[in-house]
Amino acid sequence: MTPTLFSLKCEDCGGIFTAVLANTGSYGELILYSRAGNAAWLNALEDPVFDEVTELVKAHPDAGKLDDVDQATVLHAVFSVACDPDPEHHRYVIGGMPPCPNCKSQKIESWEPVGALPAERSIPHVTHAWWNGLSPEEKRSTVHQAIDHYLL
Ligand SMILES: [Zn+2]
Repeated sequence: MTPTLFSLKCEDCGGIFTAVLANTGSYGELILYSRAGNAAWLNALEDPVFDEVTELVKAHPDAGKLDDVDQATVLHAVFSVACDPDPEHHRYVIGGMPPCPNCKSQKIESWEPVGALPAERSIPHVTHAWWNGLSPEEKRSTVHQAIDHYLL
């Protein structure tokens, strides 16, 4: 499947705009957004770093005791610590919505697919250059600190 262009309606100003979102039903394929509105593409099933972070969540003393659904929530919340930031140095967020170009709100009232993504609006894959330079211990402490912060 390919990234899909959606028409979105802003909850705050009512503005209509288009943005790329992951089609529902495409398991493991996610669009990450930064608060600057930059998007990156993640195929969790093919990204080895997603597996690495999954294992580190399971190994965390508190998160490891959670059930699968809650562990997945923690994983999504902390995964972007393993991703390079966007070109403006903002962190990507799984589940983040694109900001409205008019009022910058990320509250979206409704969205519907309008077609395939035009080539000129293609988005980059998430990268992990910084993460891949870390030692196993640095990876563990990076993810576990993010989990500690999230579970506070
Ligand atoms: Zn708006």
